[in-house]
Amino acid sequence: MKCSACATDLEKEEAHYGEPATFYDNAPLCETCYYEDEPCAVVYYGRDDEPYEITSTRNATDGKFRVQWHPTDPWRGYYVIESDEYALVNTAALLSGHESEEMLSRFDKRIRELFDEGDIDYARVFSRSSNVFYNNYDLFVKKGQQLAAQILVARAKAEVEYDDPRWYRNIVFEEEILSKLSRLFPEENLQTDYDAIRLVARLGQGIVSELQRRAAKEAD
Ligand SMILES: [Zn+2]
Repeated sequence: MKCSACATDLEKEEAHYGEPATFYDNAPLCETCYYEDEPCAVVYYGRDDEPYEITSTRNATDGKFRVQWHPTDPWRGYYVIESDEYALVNTAALLSGHESEEMLSRFDKRIRELFDEGDIDYARVFSRSSNVFYNNYDLFVKKGQQLAAQILVARAKAEVEYDDPRWYRNIVFEEEILSKLSRLFPEENLQTDYDAIRLVARLGQGIVSELQRRAAKEAD
């Protein structure tokens, strides 16, 4: 048999097999290819400092997270992170040496405080792109906690001026979240992400309880 990555001849008993939820899922590999592949993504759960690496052959998250390579052309691309248990609530580009780095580090610190206060179960995923100066920082929360998490993300963003045009950021709310918010706060006439951010900034800490109150009332 041959290694599925480098095509070296391989005795059956020396073969390693790609772990589930990886690119080489169950494919035979030589020892070098199995162990030496660079991580595509590293997952950190909440306050746990332990990095859980995902390479094309190994997946330390036991398949809780998976990566898909998305080519933008034959030479370039980036990884998209998928999960059945966690939902994506924010994605940011970490540009090495860019002035937005410091702002993103303040955002990271603040959102983790807010998630801890709000009992949000979260994971941070850092993944590579083909550009060595560019990494993705994806923020995930346990499914079912997205709405409260999105509110807290918006709040942390308002505090660190995440959406200041100087950082060239404009991804704030997903369409579905915005329409939910505008339904729950009809008097605000929320049309754009910016309207929603202003509301979040104005209500501050009270936003989550107010949101839950209105959602419960709507469910009645
Ligand atoms: Zn190999």
